[in-house]
Amino acid sequence: MLNGGHFLIQSVTPEQIFTPEEFTKEHNAISKAVKDFVTGELVSRGEEIEKINYELSRELMLKAGELGLLSADIPEEFDGMELDKISSALISERFGEGGGSFTLTELNHTGIGTLPVALFGTDEHKKKYLPGLASGELIGAFGLTEPEAGSDALNAKTTAELSEDGKYYVLNGTKAFITNAGFGDLIFTMAKVDGKYFTCFIVEMDSEGISLDEEEDKMGVKGTSTCSVIFKDVNVPVENVIAGVGKGHVIALNALNMGRFKVGAICIGNAKNAFGEAVRYSKQRVQFGVSICEFGLIKEKIADMGILLFAGESMIYRTADLLQKKIYAPENSQDDIGLRTAKSLEEYLVECSIMKIFGTEAQDFVVDEAVQIFGGYGYIHGNPAELAYRNSRPNRIWEGSNEINRIVITSTLTKRADKGAFDLASSFNDVSGKLEKAESVTTDMPDNLDAQAKMLESAKMLTVFVMEKAHVKHGKGLKNEQEVTGTISDMVIAVYSIESSILRTIKMLKGKKPSKADIPVKMCKVLVNSSMEKMAGMAKKCLIACEEGEQLTKDLNIVKKVTSAPAVNTIDLRRDISAYFIRKGRYTI
Ligand SMILES: Cc1cc2nc3c(=O)[nH]c(=O)nc-3n(C[C@H](O)[C@H](O)[C@H](O)COP(=O)(O)OP(=O)(O)OC[C@H]3O[C@@H](n4cnc5c(N)ncnc54)[C@H](O)[C@@H]3O)c2cc1C
Repeated sequence: MLNGGHFLIQSVTPEQIFTPEEFTKEHNAISKAVKDFVTGELVSRGEEIEKINYELSRELMLKAGELGLLSADIPEEFDGMELDKISSALISERFGEGGGSFTLTELNHTGIGTLPVALFGTDEHKKKYLPGLASGELIGAFGLTEPEAGSDALNAKTTAELSEDGKYYVLNGTKAFITNAGFGDLIFTMAKVDGKYFTCFIVEMDSEGISLDEEEDKMGVKGTSTCSVIFKDVNVPVENVIAGVGKGHVIALNALNMGRFKVGAICIGNAKNAFGEAVRYSKQRVQFGVSICEFGLIKEKIADMGILLFAGESMIYRTADLLQKKIYAPENSQDDIGLRTAKSLEEYLVECSIMKIFGTEAQDFVVDEAVQIFGGYGYIHGNPAELAYRNSRPNRIWEGSNEINRIVITSTLTKRADKGAFDLASSFNDVSGKLEKAESVTTDMPDNLDAQAKMLESAKMLTVFVMEKAHVKHGKGLKNEQEVTGTISDMVIAVYSIESSILRTIKMLKGKKPSKADIPVKMCKVLVNSSMEKMAGMAKKCLIACEEGEQLTKDLNIVKKVTSAPAVNTIDLRRDISAYFIRKGRYTI
C-alpha cells in the first residue's frame, strides 16, 4: 500500500489501484439504492427541492436515514452502516448525480455535521448523538467560518469561558454561512477557550442564547439552509468538548478532509448528469439542417467533458480504496474505528485535496460547456444546465477554497520531506540523472498505452524535479511563493489524474473484455497529450522563477525534451470519443 503522496516518487502498477470495474455486488446494491432514492424522492420533486422548505428537508433526511444513506461513516454499534469508503464515495457520487440542493444538505450532515463526533467523540457522545444522526432524526451542522475568519479559520473570535462552577463553557460569537442551521439540531462549534485554545464543542441548537440570522439569498443551492448563528452567553456543558481543549484544529482538519474527498465525488456525479443532459440535447437540436452534435466544435466539447469525467471517476475510487486500506492497516488495529479513519484521512490529505480541486474544477468545466451546448435555453431558469451551473459554483469556495487546497498539496509534501516522511531529496537525485538522459517519446501505438506510460513517468519525474528545486531555493519561505506552490500542486494533480486514468485503462486491457478499453485508451491518449503541453508550461514557469543562467537553460531544455509528445491525431480521437458518448446518450464506460 502506497503512503500518501508517494505516487509521485514510486512506480505504481495497475494491480495496486481499485477501479470502478471492480465494484462488488454490495457496491452496486448501494449505488442502486441511492439512485432509486434520488429518482423517486428528489428528481421527481424538481423545483420543490430548490426552494427552502425545512419540513421537506427533514422529511427527506428521515427517508434517507431509513435507507441507511446517512450512516455510511457511522460505526454499526451506534446504529450506522459502517460501509467501506468505496460505498461512501458511491453514495456521494449518486447523490451528486441528481440530488440538486438536497445533495448539499446531505453532504454537510454526513460529513462535517457528523464526523466530529463519529471520529473523535467519547463513547458517551457517540451513544447520545450518533443513532439520531444516522437515522436523520438529528440534523448536524458545522460552525467554523466567522465574518472575519473564513480561510483563516484559526483567527476565530468566538470565545468560550469556563463558568465559575466549572460545569459549563459560556460561548459568545457569530458563525457565518452555516449550512443546515435553519433546521439543524446540533452544531459542532469551534471557539477559543480563554481566547486562545481552539476547541470543538457539541452545541444543541435549542440551547438558550442561540439565535439565527435570516437565510442567505444565495446564487445557487437555494434549497439548502444557510444562515449565521449567533451565540450570546450560551452555556455548553464541559462534557460537550470533543477531543479536549485546544484540539479543534485536528477535528476541523480531518472532518474537512473527508468532506473534500466527498465533494470531489459529488461534483463528478453532478457533472455526469449535466453531461448526459447536454449530450441528449445535442442530438435533438437541429441547426443548419443537422443535429448540433454533428458539428466538430460540439464533438470536441463532448469528448473533453467525457475525458474529465473518466479521469475524475478513476481518481475517486482509487482514493477511496487507499483510505479504506489504511483504515484497516495492521499498524492501526489497536485504535477504534474513529481514530483509524482520522489517521487514514491524515495520511491521504494530499489525495483528498487533489480530489476537491479536480472534482470541483472538472464539474465547473462540464456544467459550463453544458450551458454552451444548450445555447440560449441553457441560460434560462428551469433548464437543467442552468441549475447545474448555479449549484456547482460554491464547491470551489467551501471545504477549504481551491486556493487553500493548492497550498495544502505542495506544503504538505515539502513539510513531510523536511520531516523525512517523503523522500523528496533522494528522489530528486534519482530523477535528475534520468531526466538528463531521457529521450523524447516519438512513437505512439494506437492500441496500447506504452507511449503514454512513458510520458507519465516523465511527468512524475518533472514534478519531483521542480518541487525539489523550489524547495531548496526557498526552504521554509516557499509558502510565500504561492504562484510557484500553486503551480507545482497543479502538476501533482495532473500526474494523479493521468496515472489513475492510465492504470485503470491498462487494467481494463488486461481484463476479461479488453474491447471495453477501446474508448478509455483513446481518452488517455488525448488526456496525456494535452496534460504534457500544460506540464511543459507549468514546469517552465516555476523553473524561471527559481533559477537563472546556464542552469536554467539546461533545465528548460530538459523540460522541452521530456514533455514533447508523439504526433497523435487528437481531432480524430476526440471524434471517436464523442461518437461513443453520443451513441450512448450519457456518461458510461
Ligand atoms: C453556501 C455556503 C455554505 C457554507 N457552509 C458552511 C458551513 O456549513 N460551515 C462553515 O463553517 N462554513 C461554511 N461556509 C463558509 C465557507 O467555508 C467559506 O466561505 C470559505 O472557507 C471561504 O471563506 P470566506 O468566504 O471568508 O473567504 P476568504 O477566506 O475571505 O477568501 C476570499 C478569497 O481569498 C482567497 N484566500 C484566502 N486566504 C488565502 C490564502 N492564504 N492564500 C491564497 N488565497 C487566499 C480564497 O481562496 C478566496 O478566493 C459556506 C459557504 C457558502 C458559500
